[in-house]
Amino acid sequence: MQTMRANVFHGPNDIHVEEVRRPTAGAGEAVIRITLTTICGTDLHILQGEYRVKPGLVIGHEPVGVIEEMGEELSGYKIGDRVLVGAITPCGQCRACLSGKWAQCGHGEGVEAIGGWRFGNTINGAQAEYLLVPNAQANLAKIPDELTDEQVVLLADIASTGFSGAESANIRIETRPPQHLENRKPHPSRPPHGNSRGPLRARLLKQQQNPSSKRDIL
Ligand SMILES: [Zn+2]
Ligand SMILES: [Zn+2]
Repeated sequence: MQTMRANVFHGPNDIHVEEVRRPTAGAGEAVIRITLTTICGTDLHILQGEYRVKPGLVIGHEPVGVIEEMGEELSGYKIGDRVLVGAITPCGQCRACLSGKWAQCGHGEGVEAIGGWRFGNTINGAQAEYLLVPNAQANLAKIPDELTDEQVVLLADIASTGFSGAESANIRIETRPPQHLENRKPHPSRPPHGNSRGPLRARLLKQQQNPSSKRDIL
């Protein structure tokens, strides 16, 4: 049995890195070698016992990596592709998914609350050397060569959650500040437009030019 190092939850304030079984890919699945991940605020709630997951679970849900192994039935990807995987991994085929409610994916049947969030919640997560991605055809997004892992890692959860919320509420997503803010003098201690510039902005502009790439990630 091949093993890997992973961050495992055992109970409140009892999470540590240990050797666990390394996953292998079945049909429709992929294994990615993690190159970058995060500690999310949600992981802190898990650590403090405020959100319960089962003991023995590898936590983490914001993965960037390289495809190491592909199961049967995957197309359009190859071993070695750099990919981003969303924190929410919908099946793409159940009633919730087919009605556009991917975060409510019900594991193949019906609609279950928070059903689409699996990594580090109901299945092993991303704070590990390798990650098994379910329903990989629907959940891998290739990373353009010109973008670094650091530039895309926040798209796995926090940014895509924001986009999805805005889209659900029919709020238009802007990559430029509104007109009345354009003319405002910058705060002396802050760069112009605050956080709207930088790596994420570059990604957002790319998505704006190619809307299908945004859908790949969301
Ligand atoms: Zn998160
Ligand atoms: Zn589904």
